[in-house]
Amino acid sequence: MFIEHPCYDAKAHFKIGRIHLPVAPFCNIQCNYCSRKLRVNDNRPGISNEILTPKKALAKTKKALALDPRIKIVAIAGPGDPLANSTTIETFKLIKEDIPHVNFCLSTNGLNLVDQIDDLCKVGVKFITVTLNTIDPKIGAKIYSFVKYKCKIYTGEEAASLLLNRQIEGIKKAVQAGILVKINSVLIPEINMEHLPEVAERLSKIGVHIMNIMPLIPIGKFKDLRPPNTNELKTTREKCEVYIRQWYLCKQCRADAIGVPGEEKASQLQIDACPINSIKAMLACRH
Ligand code: SF4
Ligand code: SF4
Repeated sequence: MFIEHPCYDAKAHFKIGRIHLPVAPFCNIQCNYCSRKLRVNDNRPGISNEILTPKKALAKTKKALALDPRIKIVAIAGPGDPLANSTTIETFKLIKEDIPHVNFCLSTNGLNLVDQIDDLCKVGVKFITVTLNTIDPKIGAKIYSFVKYKCKIYTGEEAASLLLNRQIEGIKKAVQAGILVKINSVLIPEINMEHLPEVAERLSKIGVHIMNIMPLIPIGKFKDLRPPNTNELKTTREKCEVYIRQWYLCKQCRADAIGVPGEEKASQLQIDACPINSIKAMLACRH
């Protein structure tokens, strides 16, 4: 079966385009490998040239589709967590009214997924990626600085356990709703490398479609940790593939990537951004 999404089907990866709409600046957790930035040239998650309002996101989507008809997927992937921002659903609703034929996708840390599945289904989201790096709260305590849930800040194993339970609950509900779920797992050699096959086994039991193991980019609090070498990445993927299909083509894209992966055209599609000071304030205010 051909899946018309560049990151769920290897045959689609070089033919189908996606647009990432950076409408979600806030996050509700702090991963130790995350450093979100605006207007820098890095090509990695958490980076965007701008934060768009839903209206500007619609305008940008129309412009992108006119320039590149291969774009079939409209996605929200940050730069914060899409489900920690009400602008995510607003944007999908607005685009659905105007361009009903596109398919929607989002990536999330999963903390708020279970609460928002019904709204996401209503608006027509077909693909969801959840970043899940461990099923062991002891390991999670090393990866997450904090989790903010219902106005309370959790840390350590309590935070990791809360996040994990809600991720699993959300994934199960998404699968039951007919959404194709991909899991992103960041491979951090000294922290979760030996553990990822256990994660893969668990994921295979709850209906996850595919797993994408991404090498650590050493930034943020993990700036002094090393990324996995090619052999470690390959071996870990092979061990996980025993349990669940693996995705090998991820480019670790920016939150404003546009086009067929690897052929991004973000620079030619920029639309006026919010004033930089208000963006800085938004990025800072949840941490
Ligand atoms: Fe950064 Fe995403 Fe983690 Fe939030 S969930 S801290 S945006 S990597
Ligand atoms: Fe696809 Fe990876 Fe880019 Fe997401 S980050 S759009 S999975 S290539």
